[in-house]
Amino acid sequence: MPRPIQALIHSAALADNLRVARAAAPDAKVWAIVKANAYGHGIERAYPGLQGADGFALLDLAEAEKVRALGWRGPILLLEGVFEPRDLELCSRLNLWHVVHHDAQIDWIATHKTTWPHRVFLKLNSGMNRLGFTPAAFRHAWMRLSGLTQVDDISLMTHFADADGPRGIEHQLAVFEAATEGLPGERSLANSAATLIHARTRAAVRGDWVRPGIAVYGSSPDFPHHDIAHWGLHPTMTLRSRLIAVQTLEAGATVGYGSVFRAEAPMRVGVVACGYADGYPRHCPNGTPVLVDGVRTRLVGRVSMDMITVDLTPVPTAAVGSEVTLWGQGPSGAVLPIDEVARAAGTIGYELMCALAPRVPVTSDAPGD
Ligand SMILES: *Cc1c(COP(=O)(O)O)cnc(C)c1O
Repeated sequence: MPRPIQALIHSAALADNLRVARAAAPDAKVWAIVKANAYGHGIERAYPGLQGADGFALLDLAEAEKVRALGWRGPILLLEGVFEPRDLELCSRLNLWHVVHHDAQIDWIATHKTTWPHRVFLKLNSGMNRLGFTPAAFRHAWMRLSGLTQVDDISLMTHFADADGPRGIEHQLAVFEAATEGLPGERSLANSAATLIHARTRAAVRGDWVRPGIAVYGSSPDFPHHDIAHWGLHPTMTLRSRLIAVQTLEAGATVGYGSVFRAEAPMRVGVVACGYADGYPRHCPNGTPVLVDGVRTRLVGRVSMDMITVDLTPVPTAAVGSEVTLWGQGPSGAVLPIDEVARAAGTIGYELMCALAPRVPVTSDAPGD
């Protein structure tokens, strides 16, 4: 029997979460963001649940090839555009749309030989200061692109830095509206946070395409302010394992490296086949939530490479073989949002999903997987 750890990808939850995003921006098309191997879910595993999207957006050309190989004939967008001139050949061959965010990319397009003109998304740096043309340079870039026979459609795009926080989006939205005023082309602005929090009431934020990533993967974009239940989202990745041993501690006994947990009274502790080499964060402290047989309990002791230890006090029936849910969907409808585990570890759900270790076998509950 293989080591009992496993990640399960929930197709129906992906489809449901996509519908939640769509409902927040009903007149917009929806990109399913599948960068970083579909936020750690695996593109092949996530694909069945995401086919209701209007397009797939990602960064890596190999991932774009994967989506085409899965049979997707609709739009695919490269969110960082091409990295070198010859990437444009793949764009021509696979009909990939690509972001243009600096001048050299325009130079490369100008010398590219293609039968079919490309669709590009011209990116404005509206204040994030990561990718994109400054407002001062934006129109010149648009003019250059519109003069190229290699380009037949220019969409306009920007990205928000504070859609989930108190600073909000107004300052960037104003920059975008001024820089794009009067220019033709579809617009795309909103990530998950902007889609769920701001797009419902603002047509300008919805634009023509929204770009929800994390929400589709069942993590709340503004946790802990709102949790996934508030947004109607469901976990799409479950990390689960089993108890491989049970220990009874005397009062005063400690567990694990560094003796960071000491029992105040006699108690049972379960040993779980899951550690930081599986992608479970090593920084999770005593008290991090975990489900045993669907019952919520807590981590006790330090996370080690291959094991963690959990308090079995709330689950007196637990024994070797009991099912342990590190995050996601537990037995009998129990849910442990990845956001809660991430917060305990001082990080965000994104990082936990993306850091799922290669040694963990991933399956999807889609029919046929
Ligand atoms: C990753 C990404 C998104 C999705 O962001 P979430 O916060 O996961 O919703 C949207 N747009 C761009 C350009 C991105 O890189």
